[in-house]
Amino acid sequence: MKKEEAKIRILGKIFRYSVDFFHKKGFVQLMPVILGKSVDPLGPDPGSSIEKIPEVEYQGDVLRLMTSMILHKQVAVKDLKKIFIMSPNIRLERPERKSTGQHLFEFTQADFEIAEAKTDDVLSLLEDYYKDLSSYLEKEASEEFSVLGLDVFGFKVPFKHYTTHELIEKYGDDDWEEKASMDEEQPFWVLSHKREFYDKEHPSKDGHYLNYDLVYPLGFCEGISGAEREHEYERLLMRIKRDKLDMDAYSQYLEFARKGFSSSAGAGIGMERLARFMTMSEHVGDVSVFKRVPGIAVEI
Ligand code: ASP
Ligand code: MG
Repeated sequence: MKKEEAKIRILGKIFRYSVDFFHKKGFVQLMPVILGKSVDPLGPDPGSSIEKIPEVEYQGDVLRLMTSMILHKQVAVKDLKKIFIMSPNIRLERPERKSTGQHLFEFTQADFEIAEAKTDDVLSLLEDYYKDLSSYLEKEASEEFSVLGLDVFGFKVPFKHYTTHELIEKYGDDDWEEKASMDEEQPFWVLSHKREFYDKEHPSKDGHYLNYDLVYPLGFCEGISGAEREHEYERLLMRIKRDKLDMDAYSQYLEFARKGFSSSAGAGIGMERLARFMTMSEHVGDVSVFKRVPGIAVEI
């Protein structure tokens, strides 16, 4: 087996582990949605740099290619309570992102949501996910890891917690994520990150959010984003206006919110980024046959 093949096989095994993990924990699996009326605006997140969200016109409706299923998750979680989707996402990143090592303009995330959950519930579920992943891969992918000449990374949970504010103070505004990632040997949580309208703001601390990213160590950077969600119609409306989003694109979503959302929390685990970390690959595209790297022409 060649190294390239070992990496592709490891991504497939991580995918399979993820599906099994969420089923074992009692989640309902939904099929991915590719075209949506309302999709994740991906901003204002300082980490996001997309050129545009592509639109398709169909039967007089404008439909958008899925950036993430967060808004669909909020709609579905009310009745189904614990859901997950192996969700392909399109994010047309600017070509400057070619050399970050961690951006693809098409990728898949294991995206999940839990009704009435809080931050601690999600963080401990995810820590279980990582703890068991190491033993799964040791058992199921030993040949692939030996081809790569690597030991399976041993996750030591619980992971450390930092806030974005603490890391910016320590490392500066520009590249705090890379620098902190280089300094750590285990993944760590970064809490309270300024993000999209659907993440809940801290009730008493202005500019603080009830959200979390997981950052991989050794320079591999962000692997997960998630949050407790804003679910009150009036606040969602105010924040969509504040972010100056196109009301037409969110009116249908707001209609669902007006009828009542459940409170929830969840996250999305980037599948290729996790496989890149486990295989210690230079680029996140190295784990795929048909890699979609910003700034590089698609071959087929
Ligand atoms: N899946 C993420 C979430 O649940 C959103 C994202 O894709 O960035 O918040
Ligand atoms: Mg993110």
